[in-house]
Amino acid sequence: MNEQQSESLLNEVLGTIQHSKEMTYDQVRVLHCLLGNTVVEALHLIDTDSVARLECGDQAKRHLYRIQDTVEAPKEKKETQLCFLLPRHCTCGVFLSSVICEQKALVCRHVLAALLFEALQRQQGIITLDEETFAEILYTWNPPTTHRT
Ligand SMILES: [Zn+2]
Repeated sequence: MNEQQSESLLNEVLGTIQHSKEMTYDQVRVLHCLLGNTVVEALHLIDTDSVARLECGDQAKRHLYRIQDTVEAPKEKKETQLCFLLPRHCTCGVFLSSVICEQKALVCRHVLAALLFEALQRQQGIITLDEETFAEILYTWNPPTTHRT
């Protein structure tokens, strides 16, 4: 399967998850065939409530995702990544090396977690920020250390 086919299969599976708002064992299996352990890691991030959707203002036309990476680092040393979905982008090293440079992966676990967060239409973890705070995150490309929930 080439990259384009993998990509469209991924989008198709995400579409069916979005439709049912839940994941079946078969969907997880297809994703695992496509993406390997990235799926397990992304589901771990979802299960541990590590994904937050940061929205700008009440209308929330602009948003990004903050992922606290609990997969490898111990709790006290959690790394935080920022993701966009359109276009897909993540601040982590895996995204830069494997997805952009080597093109051997479709997504990193953070982007996949954000995609699943959207597909499952999670309400928990949505944080509304004012314009200034949101702009500061984009400008410094640093996630806020404190936030309102
Ligand atoms: Zn990432």
